[in-house]
Amino acid sequence: MKITQRPTSKINDVDFNNLVFGSTFTDHMFQCDFVDGKWKEPEIVPYGPMQIEPSAKVFHYGQAVFEGMKAFKDDDGNAFLFRPEDNWARINKSSARLAIPEFPKEYFMDGMRKLLTMDNDWIKSGDGNSLYIRPFVIATQNGVSASPSNAYRFMIICAPAQAYYSGKVKVVFAQKFSRAADGGVGFAKAAGNYAAQFYPTNLAKADGYDQIVWTDANTHEYLEEAGTMNMFFRVGDTLLTAPTNDRILDGITRKSIIKLAQEAGVTVEVRPVSVAEIKEAAQKGKLLEMFGAGTAAVVVPVESFAHDGVDHKLPSDVSDSYAQRFKKALNDIQYNRAADHHGWRVKI
Ligand SMILES: *Cc1c(COP(=O)(O)O)cnc(C)c1O
Repeated sequence: MKITQRPTSKINDVDFNNLVFGSTFTDHMFQCDFVDGKWKEPEIVPYGPMQIEPSAKVFHYGQAVFEGMKAFKDDDGNAFLFRPEDNWARINKSSARLAIPEFPKEYFMDGMRKLLTMDNDWIKSGDGNSLYIRPFVIATQNGVSASPSNAYRFMIICAPAQAYYSGKVKVVFAQKFSRAADGGVGFAKAAGNYAAQFYPTNLAKADGYDQIVWTDANTHEYLEEAGTMNMFFRVGDTLLTAPTNDRILDGITRKSIIKLAQEAGVTVEVRPVSVAEIKEAAQKGKLLEMFGAGTAAVVVPVESFAHDGVDHKLPSDVSDSYAQRFKKALNDIQYNRAADHHGWRVKI
């Protein structure tokens, strides 16, 4: 690996108590180019602008995938990743769907480790603090013919993050627009999936909602996921979540929560969840919680949901909240405050 260090760190210019999520980046970035049919020697260079021709295929055909993960630091200054091999496996699953070549595991893990060692001071200890890590791949071949690129750049950039507290959110169940279709790219962290959500989400925001919970594109009768989070529903003491398929992203937070809940003796039903049953449960007072789960915020509780123009409120205070309980359980593992018998924590 070729390494070019920044002469002086930018870290003293950063106010770590007033970070806007994903807008301040660390001193270095990792990059590796795919040319002539193979990934070349990776390098770490100072974070900054790079030159790409306007005809690069990523700008025209959206051949781009990404990942989102975090590094955490305990009170003794040890830094950890959470299930990083799952992110490696998933970016390659996303890549395969977009005809992007697989990125080797050693390059991913070694590059990440080296980068985080160099920018280690940017990982702050303390509950809620983390380093958000964004690996991604873009098509870099020049030329506007609609065919897969023969050149790519794999990169990792990192942004320090504070506790992501958005409060409770108001969601609306999708009835017109769709995020993903059968046989499509919904399961992939493909850049275009997010662009396609911006317009409908803006409309929902204009109506006073924070997020859309997407439903199946064919009937709009089954609840799938939010734009960057998988969804959980607590009906009585049972936790419901949709099974992953080619329309739903296989979230690492989702599968970790399923596991922790099962181990805690909670009944978890992984099955299609209908809009009708959630509305009925809400009307009967049995819908106790609804929350999104994803790396950025871990858990985001829902305050109300709307469907057919009617708002349904969730109880404001539930004893033994699953959202809080499993967020804490996950955080305790991530920050090295609890035993990790699953082997999820990986020391840097
Ligand atoms: C990233 C993402 C999630 C959450 O996945 P995690 O691995 O838990 O961060 C859920 N849904 C979508 C669409 C996503 O892009």
